[in-house]
Amino acid sequence: MTGEPTTDPVSPDERKAQLAANLARVEHRIAAACDAAGRDRSQVTLIVVTKTYPADDVTFLAQLGVRQVAENRDQEAAAKAAACAGAGLSWHFVGQLQTNKARSVVGYADHVHSVDRLRLVTALSDAAVRAGREVGCLVQVALDAASGTVGGRGGAAPQDVEAVADAIAAAPGLRIEGLMAVAPLAGEYAGQPRAAFDRLSDIASVLRGSHPAANMVSAGMSSDLEEAVAAGATHVRVGTAVLGVRPPLR
Ligand SMILES: *Cc1c(COP(=O)(O)O)cnc(C)c1O
Repeated sequence: MTGEPTTDPVSPDERKAQLAANLARVEHRIAAACDAAGRDRSQVTLIVVTKTYPADDVTFLAQLGVRQVAENRDQEAAAKAAACAGAGLSWHFVGQLQTNKARSVVGYADHVHSVDRLRLVTALSDAAVRAGREVGCLVQVALDAASGTVGGRGGAAPQDVEAVADAIAAAPGLRIEGLMAVAPLAGEYAGQPRAAFDRLSDIASVLRGSHPAANMVSAGMSSDLEEAVAAGATHVRVGTAVLGVRPPLR
């Protein structure tokens, strides 16, 4: 059902056509998952993860109607956001973030999904105030934290989520928008994306008790977006299924 995204080297027109076809396939998957879950399609937003792909692809995506894009490395994201300024895009930062990159990230990111510690909240807040911007923040939850085998992808332990969210809500220049998670590769949820996303959904409901506006649940990627939609995700982050298989990281 996932299907193979099309990625053979091609002309610009052919590339745009590939992206359109891949997007249509992903759109169909999201619509089917919403249908199966009894949810309205409008309750789920597609964020296209463009990391490793060139600004030209981002421009094509914008022409094809994509409005939300995500990146996971500051240097690459900053250059691409600058190259695509004026395309009407919202930029989401979804990668592990060092405090010394906060200033750069708030320069282009409308949303940061990977806020996982108090020091980062302070750095983002200082940077946002200095830049005169307001940045939406999601707390990244490490669903494998309990196992002691945290996969090195960042995230706050579930018991620390509330404190990080409180700090964001109190921080000038930041807004608490919700939670993000990646399905764990290790621990009790390994190979169980639906159970992992159900757990995220539970943590999100508790959070909304104290922060009613924190209603974004960012979960699900190319391989598990159906499970995320079934569990109540409001935002899915899809890269490979739209742009193609990425070359291995250097
Ligand atoms: C790369 C990435 C994605 C997209 O993953 P795909 O499997 O390519 O769809 C989603 N979320 C985060 C945090 C990522 O780094």
